[in-house]
Amino acid sequence: MADEITTTAAAAPSERSSERPSGPRGPRPGGPGGPGGPGGPGGRKFFRRKKVCKFCTEKIDAISYRDVRLLQGFVAERGKIVPRRLTGVCTTHQRKLSAAIKQARNIALLPFAARY
Ligand SMILES: [Zn+2]
Repeated sequence: MADEITTTAAAAPSERSSERPSGPRGPRPGGPGGPGGPGGPGGRKFFRRKKVCKFCTEKIDAISYRDVRLLQGFVAERGKIVPRRLTGVCTTHQRKLSAAIKQARNIALLPFAARY
């Protein structure tokens, strides 16, 4: 009786290992741990922009809502306003910028949200 149980238990794992040569998550090249991974020295995934306010440097005080090409630089593909921490725009100009973007949206110069 006891002998029967041990044989079935021993046969089961060997059968399983032969069934699948590699799991669903096999070793893939270029996985985590490569150069430029998260936490690496200076290896940041996102493109780092100049952390200087573009409007302050160019001395632009009023941001025109008609300047779509300028505004589009601060709007993501999906139509979202890019956060200040990514663009480096100062608080004053970000507020003017978002107001201009919203005005531009209202007259259909910019999308509210991109379509899927
Ligand atoms: Zn500024």
